Amino acid sequence: MTADVIVLGAGIIGVSTAINLARRGKSVVLVDRRDPGLETSYGNAGLIQREGVVPYGFPQQVGMLLRYALNDRVDAYYHARAIPKVAPFLLRYWWHSNAGRHKLIAKAYAPLIEHSITEHADLIEAAGAGHLIRKEGWTEVFRTDATLDKELQAARALQGEYGLTFDALDKADLARREPHLSGDFAGGLTWRDPWSVLDPLALTQSYVALFEKLGGRFVHGDAATLKPVANGWQVSTADGQVQGESVVVALGPWSETVTQPLGYRYLVGVKRGYHMHYAAKNDAKLNGWLMDAERGYLLAPMSQGIRLTTGAEFALRDAPKTPVQLTRAEAIARRAFPLGERLDKEPWMGARPCTPDMMPVIGKAPRHRGLWFAFGHAHHGLTLGPVTGRVLAETMTGEKPLIDIAAYRPERFRA
Ligand SMILES: Cc1cc2nc3c(=O)[nH]c(=O)nc-3n(C[C@H](O)[C@H](O)[C@H](O)COP(=O)(O)OP(=O)(O)OC[C@H]3O[C@@H](n4cnc5c(N)ncnc54)[C@H](O)[C@@H]3O)c2cc1C
Repeated sequence: MTADVIVLGAGIIGVSTAINLARRGKSVVLVDRRDPGLETSYGNAGLIQREGVVPYGFPQQVGMLLRYALNDRVDAYYHARAIPKVAPFLLRYWWHSNAGRHKLIAKAYAPLIEHSITEHADLIEAAGAGHLIRKEGWTEVFRTDATLDKELQAARALQGEYGLTFDALDKADLARREPHLSGDFAGGLTWRDPWSVLDPLALTQSYVALFEKLGGRFVHGDAATLKPVANGWQVSTADGQVQGESVVVALGPWSETVTQPLGYRYLVGVKRGYHMHYAAKNDAKLNGWLMDAERGYLLAPMSQGIRLTTGAEFALRDAPKTPVQLTRAEAIARRAFPLGERLDKEPWMGARPCTPDMMPVIGKAPRHRGLWFAFGHAHHGLTLGPVTGRVLAETMTGEKPLIDIAAYRPERFRA
C-alpha cells in the first residue's frame, strides 16, 4: 500500500491532522496499534478550552513548592521513586514557568488557542457531530471571598488582554446555576467562550468517519516498525507494508517510540490523570462542567455519567496506576455534590504529553526529509487537535499556515 502521507497515532491530534491532509488532496493512511481515540483522547475532561491561553505552569514560590513536596494534595501527586528520572524535565518546566518567561509563552501560545473553537466547529459540522457538543462554557468555583476576588481580577486581566468573556457568579448566582451543589462555595466564574464535549471518544470516532469519507484509510499497525526507505518511509501494518512520502508522528505520550530511535532526544514528560464516572443520587443534576479550583478536580456531566477528572500525577508513563488523587478528590466531591455509586470497574488513567515550555511540538523534523511532528499537547490536546492538524497540513503542502507556527517548531529544543 502506498500513500502520500502516513499519520502515526489516531488520537485527536493524528485524526485531525489526517483530515486536514485529506482535505488538501493528499492520500493518507492513519495508523494506530489500537482503534482510534482509545488512549489519552478518550478519558479527558471534554473541554475545548478557548480560555486556556495561559498554559499550566510549575509553582515558583518556595512555600508552594514545600506544600507540594508533602505529597498530600489533590491537584498534584508524585511518585518519589520516579523523581530522579523526571527531574531534568521538571527543572526545565520550572525554569520556563518563571513569571516573565511564562507571560511570553502565553503570548506565543494564544494564537493556537484562539482558533480552537472555530477549527473544531468546522470539523464538527462536516462530521455531523453537533449532538456531542455543549456551548455553555464551564465554571470554576471558589471557597472563599478572597480567592473569588483574586480569580475574578485575574480573569478580568485575561479578558482585557485576550478578549475572553466570563460571568462572575456570587453565591446566589451559583446556586441558581447549580441548585444541587452542596459544597461551601463563595461563588465562581463561568468562562463563556469554551465548548464542552459529551463524549470525547465519540467525537474522535466521528472525525475518523469524516476522514474515511474523504478517502482516507485507517489501519492497525505498530509505529515502532517505522523505517526510512528509498522514497520516504515504511511502516508494518495488519494490512501489510505501507509506504509514504512523508510521515507525521502524532503518538501523544508515546511519540518517543519513533523520535528516539531516529536520534531526537526531546525532554517530554507526562502528567498522568485519572477519571471515574458516577451516578447522581436522588435525581440530582449537574448542569455544566464544574471545577473545584482550590482542590483541583473537575466534574463533567458526560454521556457516560458524571465524570470526575484529576490533576497532575508525576510518575513514569508506564508505572502501575496509583489513583491516590481520585480517592482524595472523590471524598471532597461527595461533600460538594450528591454523587452516587461508581459506574466503572476501575479508574481510567491517561498521560498528558508535556514539553518543558508548555507548548506543543508542531512542524518538520530538523534532520530528516519527510518527517513531521505533532505532539506534546499536554492539558490541551482535545482543544488543539483541529487547529494543529490544519496548520501542520498547510505547512506540509506549502500553503501559508493560518497562524505563524515558528513558536512551536521542533528545533526550539536542542534535541
Ligand atoms: C485527566 C485528563 C483530562 C484532560 N482534560 C482535557 C480537556 O478537558 N481538554 C483538553 O483539551 N485536553 C485535555 N486533556 C489532554 C488531552 O486529552 C491530550 O492532550 C490529548 O488527548 C492528546 O492527544 P494525542 O492525539 O496527542 O494522544 P493520544 O490520544 O494518546 O493518541 C496517541 C495514539 O498513539 C497510539 N500509539 C501509541 N504507541 C503506538 C505505537 N507503537 N504504534 C501505533 N500507535 C501507537 C495510541 O494508541 C494512541 O491512540 C486531558 C488529559 C487527561 C489525562
